[in-house]
Amino acid sequence: MPVFDSPSFKDHEQVVFCNDAATGLRAIIAVHSTALGPAAGGCRFWDYSRNHMQAPVDVAVSRSEQDAVYDVLRLSRGMSYKNALAGLRLGGGKAVIIGDPKKIGTPELMRAFGRQIQRLGGTYYTAEDVGISPAMLAHAAETTDYVSGLEGGAYGKGDPSPSTALGIYAGLKAAVKHRLGKDSVAGITVAVQGAGHVGQHLINYLRNSGANIIVTDIVESNIQAVLDTGPAEVVAPEAIHGMACDVFSPCALGGGLNARTLPEIKASIIAGAANNQLETEGVQDEELRQKGILYCPDYVINAGGIISLESEIYKEKPNPDAIQEKLLQIGDTLTNIFVRSDREARSTGRVANEMAEEIIRAAVPSDNS
Ligand code: NAD
Repeated sequence: MPVFDSPSFKDHEQVVFCNDAATGLRAIIAVHSTALGPAAGGCRFWDYSRNHMQAPVDVAVSRSEQDAVYDVLRLSRGMSYKNALAGLRLGGGKAVIIGDPKKIGTPELMRAFGRQIQRLGGTYYTAEDVGISPAMLAHAAETTDYVSGLEGGAYGKGDPSPSTALGIYAGLKAAVKHRLGKDSVAGITVAVQGAGHVGQHLINYLRNSGANIIVTDIVESNIQAVLDTGPAEVVAPEAIHGMACDVFSPCALGGGLNARTLPEIKASIIAGAANNQLETEGVQDEELRQKGILYCPDYVINAGGIISLESEIYKEKPNPDAIQEKLLQIGDTLTNIFVRSDREARSTGRVANEMAEEIIRAAVPSDNS
């Protein structure tokens, strides 16, 4: 497996391959950087040999363990960048468990996974990601101290979605100011793709500030929940990209912005919660820049969830005011990215990566780096 040659391996501190024959656990834990603090990032439980789930395209096409390596390396570096730009005392890491969680995701396997994390002695903190339920995470926590996002924990904040939504709202407002020169979202039309946990909170923030909402979802009850709290224009899932609006807000699954959907976008701003929004990052963000569409890099604008978990990792009582301040700072961070992107005529995605790398390089390395 060409780990050391993989461009995604660049700058990783540690990659651990875990095997437990008794439970069938095969996992990879990647620690990209601990320069800013313990490496934090969720665990993805995924059958890399199959292509049967709706998921970010780069994951959905994965068919081998090599893809699992690529995935974990890419995701852990992304967590370093996200945590750095969010101003957190956290480095970046990620884990993947290989296999179908429905078939092999037993409590015993999760406990075996927890033991592997425990051996790393706090270098890596795990959390939920695709394929991992709160109950599964709780089983891992039976054998390791290094889990965040647990329900009902002494330092936990519970569901991170409201924090994520507030961060998106702050970032969206910064984008509106930068691109449209408006200090508020009053009268702005936002097309929200996906009215789930984050989407519904975001819609409430936007409506309370006078924005007009266009919304879609594939689950009728989620649409109803939006309509129960205020007005919105409901459209079919396949129509949302092409709606006339100021802001397109992808809050469903990743990979939604691709060669088919991007030409339909009429918005001048893209600002939403979904991870891996662009099918081909590094190419499509530059295309968007050239078309005059302001793209808010996903990992910058959706950092609210991890911001709300930082105190749990440090076993500190959550300070709501400090958390709120950090969430609102997402807007300032994005403004800096927009300004530099304009000045250097380079995509917001590329500028964000470089700014994150600068923060990580400037950090004093920790003992274990
Ligand atoms: P969710 O599952 O609660 O909501 C997603 C919604 O999208 C669901 O209502 C689903 O029915 C809908 N959907 C799925 N496919 C769709 C389609 N083709 N068209 C329209 N709607 C569709 O998830 P969430 O917690 O709200 O997160 C939304 C996105 O933000 C995800 O990509 C997630 O990875 C990302 N994210 C979430 C958080 C968080 O704190 N929850 C943090 C960071 C990133």
